[in-house]
Amino acid sequence: MKRAVQPPKSGKKEIEKRKIPFFKSLKSVLRSVKVIFRMDWRNIPAFVINQFLVTLQPFVALFFSARILDILSAGADRQTVVSWILAAVFCNYGVYLLERLTACNTSVEGITLYWQLYQEMSRVMMRADYEELEKPEIGLAKERIERSTRMFWYGPWEVPGVLMSLAKGLTITGAALGLAWPVFLPVKGESIPWGTILMVFFIVISVCYSISTENRLYRMKEESLDKMAVQLRRSNFLYGYAREDQGAKDIRLYRQQEMIRKQSKTIFNKMEELSRARADLRSRSNGIRGAMSQAVVCLAYLAVGIRALAGIFSVGSVVQYVGAVTQLSEGIRMLVYSLQHIRMQGPHCQEYLDFIGEGNDPKQYRHHQDGTQPVKPTGDWEISFEGVSFRYPGSEEWALRDLNIRLQKGCHYALVGMNGSGKTTFVKLLCRLYDPTEGRILLNGRDIREYNSEEYRRLFAVVFQDFQLFALPLGENVAASMQYDEERAQECLEKAGIGAWAAKLPKRLRQPLYTVEDDGVNISGGEAQKIAIARALYKDAPFVVLDEPTAALDPIAEADIYSRFREMTDQKGALYISHRLSSCRFCDTIAVFHDGRLVQEGNHEELLSQEKGQYAQLWQAQAQWYQ
Ligand code: ADP
Repeated sequence: MKRAVQPPKSGKKEIEKRKIPFFKSLKSVLRSVKVIFRMDWRNIPAFVINQFLVTLQPFVALFFSARILDILSAGADRQTVVSWILAAVFCNYGVYLLERLTACNTSVEGITLYWQLYQEMSRVMMRADYEELEKPEIGLAKERIERSTRMFWYGPWEVPGVLMSLAKGLTITGAALGLAWPVFLPVKGESIPWGTILMVFFIVISVCYSISTENRLYRMKEESLDKMAVQLRRSNFLYGYAREDQGAKDIRLYRQQEMIRKQSKTIFNKMEELSRARADLRSRSNGIRGAMSQAVVCLAYLAVGIRALAGIFSVGSVVQYVGAVTQLSEGIRMLVYSLQHIRMQGPHCQEYLDFIGEGNDPKQYRHHQDGTQPVKPTGDWEISFEGVSFRYPGSEEWALRDLNIRLQKGCHYALVGMNGSGKTTFVKLLCRLYDPTEGRILLNGRDIREYNSEEYRRLFAVVFQDFQLFALPLGENVAASMQYDEERAQECLEKAGIGAWAAKLPKRLRQPLYTVEDDGVNISGGEAQKIAIARALYKDAPFVVLDEPTAALDPIAEADIYSRFREMTDQKGALYISHRLSSCRFCDTIAVFHDGRLVQEGNHEELLSQEKGQYAQLWQAQAQWYQ
């Protein structure tokens, strides 16, 4: 049985574990930039330069205003004044034009980046060994990345934004210091500059306050991350339940509306509670920070004003210094904010990078030994299980125990047994979705691990119980490809007993399935099964496996499919798993599974003659309902 993915408890220890030193965070953020660049997303430099220019504009204006004021108050001649005004206009326009040239549509680029990074995760998952996908830690890492993104916008997608605010913070701080530095220097003959000292003191206090609130907010976010995830999962389940066909029917028949409404309200209240403390702190800290900025402005006026009165600073300098000092505390705050965000984003970027295997072994999530032996596309095939035992990863129980069986091309096999007896597990091992824990599986006398696994899997066309069809046109579903032979696809649909239905569809093979597309059609469980069978036939593999493929079919359709299948798979190896023993009785060999062991093997008559055997018991149990 599959285990649910449990998020770790979000105690302090867990958060400490996620914390990494600043330089490691910075490294992860920069490595994320590398990944983003590789995704053909080359606008980061333009973004950063653009933010630098946007931020610089007010400082250019401030500098020239101060100079013009100075020369005017000094009674400069007309030509000098005009030259300064022209220089001001030229520089302002210059910066403006450069800013426009580097401007990009950040919102569209941001969304594209988000999808590209997610697609990379899907690609990694699709390349991974099947077995890896079942590991709880993989599911957990994936879930954590997704919820950090959805809830708090953590992860590489935020890196361009963080770099932009870093560029902004650096520009503001640099430009403000460049314009206001004389304020901070002692002046010869001046007594203790209390105004300046107080101003510096307030700037330092305001920066320290910013650091401490951002730290608290980060901690609160991290603490609520796992708690929010549980609520989000509950809410997604309820939303899906109310929407899905099955849920919608049950809601009406069992009058579950009130129960769902109450559940949703509880979830909403918990989410609100978790967000409220953060929102309160954010708004309180914004207020306090605003008051501190105002205090810095007042003190800047005081510090600069005293020196201006003493004739140390000119009129223009007063405008320049006060304006620059006001910007300075904002610049430092932004710088601190972006550096803190680098520290916060670092662990989440690292989690993403680890997930996609960036900088690690390129065979991330691929631990199966993959041989180089080619698999011949045609020929006679014989597959033997030799003493095969299997335990699912992380499970103590044996799902299969000491299995010895031989499958040959041209023979038809049936696997029967009670639920949980190991039939599906057998098929998964046969297709090399897992490797045996003990024993070996041979193809024509050679261990299947010596073959290239992709080539080996081409030998099988399987219809699993939980098969999936795409919300794509019918023909593409049958061929599992966008390019396909229409005639062959139609023929396979006919063979699967659904040709007439397909011919009646308005767009025939081009008809999209499911209502994801506007012109899509909804299909019943039985129709879906027949389409899945047609897909297996289209693959034309030497072995065909049907794992309870007819559960949603009526007995007549099932009998029809089985008799056709015998003809269609005449030259192939065919394996059926079915609970209806009457469907399997015509197979050459029936293998009876019980508790993960192969307990009986033979044809129908042979097995029935063993009266105390498992098969005879199962047969009798079913037959009594038909007497
Ligand atoms: P059958 O197809 O005969 O119903 P399965 O092969 O599905 O049986 O299951 C055999 C045993 O393996 C059962 O005990 C089942 O609970 C266990 N099992 C199946 N899938 C998993 C899994 N993904 N992880 C852990 N145990 C599993």
